Formats: sequence, C-alpha cells, structure tokens
Amino acid sequence: VPAIEVRDLRRTYTRSRTNSVPALRGVSFAVPTGGRFGIVGESGSGKSTLVRLLAALDKPSSGSIWFRGRQIDGRAERELAFLRRELQVVFQDPMGSLDPRMRVRDIVAEPLDRRTSRADRADRVAELLAAVGLAAEAADRYPHQFSGGQRQRISIARALAPAPRVLIADEPVSALDVSIRAQILDLLLDLVARFDLTLLLVSHDLGVIRYVCDTVAVMRRGEIVEHGAVHTVYQAP
Ligand code: ADP
Ligand code: ADP
Repeated sequence: VPAIEVRDLRRTYTRSRTNSVPALRGVSFAVPTGGRFGIVGESGSGKSTLVRLLAALDKPSSGSIWFRGRQIDGRAERELAFLRRELQVVFQDPMGSLDPRMRVRDIVAEPLDRRTSRADRADRVAELLAAVGLAAEAADRYPHQFSGGQRQRISIARALAPAPRVLIADEPVSALDVSIRAQILDLLLDLVARFDLTLLLVSHDLGVIRYVCDTVAVMRRGEIVEHGAVHTVYQAP
C-alpha cells in the first residue's frame, strides 16, 4: 500500500457568508512507500493546506486521506495515535515550532513515549542529536542559542524521536541562508536513506525539489496541474 494516498481532496475556507476560498479543489495522488515525493507550487497554491490535512491538523471539506492503508479523515483525535507517531512534520520556521523556554533535550524528547525511562530518554536524545550532526552539549542549551540551520537540525531531531515512517518537510530551507540550504537537504537525504523513511517535501522552489525528490506534483490554484518523475517536469511553478 502507498505511504500516503489522497483522493479528490477538497478544502474550502469560509471567511464569511459571501466569501469562501477553495484552497484545494480535488487533489489526488499517492506517495509510494520509500519514495521521495515533492509538491511544488507558488504561494497560495494550497500547499500548507494540504500539509495540515495530511497531518490531521485540519479537516477536509470532502475527499479521503489514507495513511499506510488506514483512512484518517473523519477519525477522532484519540484514534490518531498511530498517525502522531508514524508521521512527523518539519516546518519552515524552526523558531516558531521550538518552545523557547525548553532545553533542547526536552524539546527533542517530548514526542517520546511517556513511559520511556529517564536514562533511555537521555540515550535517545544523544543518538538523535548525533544523527542530525549536533554536539552532545547542545542538549543543555535553548533554541535561541543556535543558528537557523542548527535550529532546523533540532526540529528534525525532534521529528525523528518517535521513529516515524513518514516525514513531511514543509519549506524546510526557505527560512535559511542560501549557503546552508544544501547542508539541510543533504541531511534530510541522509536520514531518509538511513532510517528508510518516506519523504514528502513541500517547496515553492523546483530546484529544492529536484535536488531531493524522485517524483513531483505541481500545484496551481488548489489543483495538481502536472505530475511525474522529477526530471520530466518542465514547468516552473
Ligand atoms: P473555516 O472556518 O472556514 O474552517 P479556518 O477556521 O481555517 O476557516 O480559518 C479561520 C479564519 O482565519 C478565517 O476566517 C481567515 O480569516 C483567517 N485566516 C487564517 N489564515 C489565513 C490565510 N492564510 N489567508 C486568509 N485568511 C486566513
Ligand atoms: P500555500 O501554502 O501554497 O501558500 P495555502 O494553503 O496557505 O497555500 O493557501 C491556499 C489558499 O487558501 C490561499 O488563497 C490562502 O489565502 C487561503 N487560506 C489558507 N489558509 C486559510 C484560512 N485559514 N482561512 C482562509 N483562507 C485561507
């Protein structure tokens, strides 16, 4: 079964009784297990809306979403524990998603099972920090003590903590200096191979998608207008 499959997904935002925005207008695609799938589109094309639906942070207006063979739309939060473990999202702005009052060790360990012992947590944090190329001492510090690229490494370590099967990266390098973007993309490629993850990478930048992905879907105004192997897709978003 595919890692992710969506069928005729629609999401309309209602701003007022007379003003509604069809952000997704019938999107269908499948991400094969182990694939590196890119979604490219200009600002406003519906990418973030799609990510929120896939992560069950928002509900579709219609259509269905399947995660590793299980339908997730329409499920109550208490039935989504498997999704909260198996699917993790890395967002664009690591500062926005890292609690500034928490030490890195607690940020990274937060998604771990509550029953994990103190010693096991410390071991797991050390292992995760090493996996993302951060020194062990990073565990004692706070997010503001790191550069943008290092903060993105912290959020990637946190995403990997529950040993997910699928990673969604939503504009993971857009907020970073151009000179360090390739380092973070190389890290994602390395981790995806090492942990046998399925990757869904969302970006407005076709160059980023080409560097990382094997397959790409191009979104425009809430629809997929082109879809195929990454080198066969011609149009810029
Ligand atoms: P709905 O009530 O249709 O489900 P939401 O609850 O998702 O819509 O959004 C609530 C409000 O947030 C919207 O009415 C809108 O004014 C505002 N909003 C949030 N993000 C955006 C955005 N990216 N563009 C426009 N409006 C937004
Ligand atoms: P992208 O991530 O590609 O920039 P979005 O999914 O954020 O696209 O937005 C798609 C469309 O939906 C845009 O027209 C945007 O203004 C609108 N939109 C997004 N979120 C909301 C919201 N919460 N309420 C109302 N409109 C929204």
